[in-house]
Amino acid sequence: ATPTAILVGTGRGSQLGILIRGPQVLEQTRKVDTIVLDKTGTVTEGRMRVAAVVPADGVEGAELLRLAAAAEAGSEHPIGRAIAEADAAHPIAADFAAHAGFGVQAVVDGRLVLAGRLGWLADEWSIDTAPLAARASRHEATGSTVVAVAADGRLLGIVAVADTVKPTSAAAVAALKRLGLTPVLLTGDNEGAARAVAAEVGIADVRAGVTPAGKLDAVRELQAQGRVVAMVGDGVNDAAALAAADLGLAMGGGTDAAITASDVTIVSGDLLAVADAVRLARSTLGTIR
Ligand code: ADP
Ligand code: MG
Repeated sequence: ATPTAILVGTGRGSQLGILIRGPQVLEQTRKVDTIVLDKTGTVTEGRMRVAAVVPADGVEGAELLRLAAAAEAGSEHPIGRAIAEADAAHPIAADFAAHAGFGVQAVVDGRLVLAGRLGWLADEWSIDTAPLAARASRHEATGSTVVAVAADGRLLGIVAVADTVKPTSAAAVAALKRLGLTPVLLTGDNEGAARAVAAEVGIADVRAGVTPAGKLDAVRELQAQGRVVAMVGDGVNDAAALAAADLGLAMGGGTDAAITASDVTIVSGDLLAVADAVRLARSTLGTIR
C-alpha cells in the first residue's frame, strides 16, 4: 500500500474510534489469525455489583463488608470498586497495596485486611479458606467472582460479585470468527465465571485462573505455535501480554498501563470496533501481496 493509502486508512480508523499508534499497525492487524480476549472489562462491562455477602462463623455480614470496602477503596479494579461502593460509610484504610491479578491489602482500624482470590489468601498468606470453599464454588458456578476477605490472618468471609456481558460482545465474537480469527478467552477469574461468559459469547478456548505473568506466557505460547496473536485488554494485569502480542488493543475506558502497552486504542470499548479494525486493515492493504 502507498503511504497515502495508509494515511487514509489511519484517518478512517480514527473516525471509527480506532486510534492507531503508527503506520505499521495496519499491517500487523492484517496478519492476525488469533484474538485473545481478556474477560473482565473487555468482554464484560467490568461494572460489577455485590451479589452475595457470606460471613464466616461468628462474623457479622456488615462487619465483613465494612472491612472489605475499606480495604478496596484504593483499588482501580472493577471488583474492588464494586466492593468499595457496597458500603459507602466504610472507614479510611492505610497502607493500601494492590497485587494485580490477585487482590489487595490495606490496614483498617489497625488490622491488616486482605481481599482477593481464595488461592492467593491460602498460598501467599497461609489463611485457612477451607471453611468457605464449598460456598465459594457454588457462587462461582453461577458466574460470580468470589473475593475472600481476611483480617489479621483469619478468614472473615467471602463476597461474591457479578458482572454482565457487554451487549455487543457476542456479535463481535461472531464477526471476528467470520473474519477467520480464532477467539481465546483469557482471564485471571475462576473457571466457572469464565465458562459462563465464554458460553454466552461463543468462545470455545477458555483459559481461566491465569495470573498477569501467565497471560504473557499464554500469548507467547500461541505465538510459538506459529499463530499471529492480537490481544485485547483493559487492565494493568493485561499490560505485559498486550505489549508482547503481535497486535495489542486497549479498551478506551481501560487503565493507562493497558493503553500505553498497546498499538491500538478502541475508544468506545466496544468489541465490534475490533472487527472493524481488522476489516479496515484488510481493505486498506488488501491490494498488496
Ligand atoms: P481479568 O483477567 O478477568 O481482567 P484480573 O486478572 O484483573 O481479571 O483479576 C483476576 C482475579 O484476581 C479476579 O477474578 C479476582 O479474583 C482477583 N482480584 C483482582 N483484583 C482484585 C481486587 N481489587 N479485589 C479482590 N480480588 C481481586
Ligand atoms: Mg480486565
